[in-house]
Amino acid sequence: MSFDYDLFVIGGGSGGVRAARIASGEYGAKVGLAEESRMGGTCVIRGCVPKKLMVFASAFPDAIEEAQAYGWDVQAGAFDWTRFRTRLEAELDRLEGAYRNTLTNAGVTIHDERAVIVDAHRVRLASGQEVTAKHILVATGGWPFVPDIPGKELAITSNEMFHLPALPKRALVVGGGYIASEFACILHGLGVKVSQFYRGAQILRGFDEEARGHVANAMRARGIDIHCGTDVMRLEKTASGIRAVATDGTEREFDLVLYATGRRPNTTGLGLEGLGLTLGRHGEIPVDRFSQTAVPSVYAVGDVTGRINLTPVAIREGHAFADTVFGAKPTAFDHGLVASAVFTQPELGSVGLSEEAAREQEPIEVYATAFRPMKTLFAGKQDRVLMKLIVSQATRKVLGCHIVAAEAGELIQLAAVAIGMGATKEDFDRTVAVHPTMAEELVTMRKPTRTA
Ligand code: NDP
Repeated sequence: MSFDYDLFVIGGGSGGVRAARIASGEYGAKVGLAEESRMGGTCVIRGCVPKKLMVFASAFPDAIEEAQAYGWDVQAGAFDWTRFRTRLEAELDRLEGAYRNTLTNAGVTIHDERAVIVDAHRVRLASGQEVTAKHILVATGGWPFVPDIPGKELAITSNEMFHLPALPKRALVVGGGYIASEFACILHGLGVKVSQFYRGAQILRGFDEEARGHVANAMRARGIDIHCGTDVMRLEKTASGIRAVATDGTEREFDLVLYATGRRPNTTGLGLEGLGLTLGRHGEIPVDRFSQTAVPSVYAVGDVTGRINLTPVAIREGHAFADTVFGAKPTAFDHGLVASAVFTQPELGSVGLSEEAAREQEPIEVYATAFRPMKTLFAGKQDRVLMKLIVSQATRKVLGCHIVAAEAGELIQLAAVAIGMGATKEDFDRTVAVHPTMAEELVTMRKPTRTA
């Protein structure tokens, strides 16, 4: 049977674009790709990229304060949200264009419309046109989830954060994960009075407990009003804002309520059930190690599979799919040791096992140090950095590394190389310190803080 395409990709985000580009550009497959929104997906259009630019914008008041302590005669002045947003929009337009060019240059045919699956080899575009493909790759990502509370329509999600007409004076952030904690810090840095409600006992569930505590303490010390064990029962419109009625009995008013209570796979109405696929509890598409679904011609990568919701993971999954299906190199991406960073202020960089997970697995040594780094100490600030290594007693391998510090995202990338290679504590110790840096502490911690 002949098909219109060798591969049809649904979704032009990180995973779909990589798969399409490699399948077409490197392996010569005939590839079509449909995207109903803007090319680039969550990461480029409404996630990592605009978020990181907002992180940069929000860090300047701190930098200016430090500059004053270092002898500079500078004043912060006012933050012009509209000026920033205009530049942000221009940058996203540029990036979207770059993604589009990359695909076109690789020979991919772009369809700027929604596509749904009709059968194992056929998709229907919004225009009504049907196309056939030997393989279909679903890379439709995820979408913010807002729990069904009264007044939920008064809240916004991270999708809307980049388009605010103006910055609020008082904001409530609901949730305790990556997005909630990052936006609490961003808004605070931009001069907004921020409260964060999280239903659990400590924000950033899943990360090393000591590191979570360190980030939460630092956020509170900066003036973010974090309430753990607190959730919103309902939101009500008032004459002057939005009233949040909380489970702790309080009622407080805000100008903006941001819900960052997780994301759900974008599978509604895609036609997957018609294929006979049983989706997961939150709509995620079950796949095997090679990202293949139970229907052999249909694959899925990225957030829509609910494995690890990170752009670089989607990219690796998309690349591995193209290598497997079109490059005759069966490749299963290893989800085992994925480093990540939470861009709070200070940042949290993490790779490998938390202390809690490691000690469930085997006897460990914990090396941890918290100290005031030179740069901010000089400026009279109380900020503390945390450097932490979890070491296997039996093999001496470093099982986990957790850093809370400015630029921890940059630092953890390098630690991830060593840990991925199986470095032992002695390998770390043999490495001569780079002085004076914060990261030198990672190679100079002589005695374990504790064993477990
Ligand atoms: P997360 O899963 O990280 O966090 C969701 C938060 O919302 C948790 O604190 C969760 O609480 C809480 N929550 C979930 N449901 C409810 C509910 N019904 N009522 C109240 N609270 C609720 O999701 P995010 O939205 O922050 O981010 C989505 C994903 O995007 C992340 O998992 C991450 O993989 C990715 N991401 C990565 C970033 C990075 O690498 N820097 C940045 C942003 C996103 P509980 O802990 O109790 O479940």
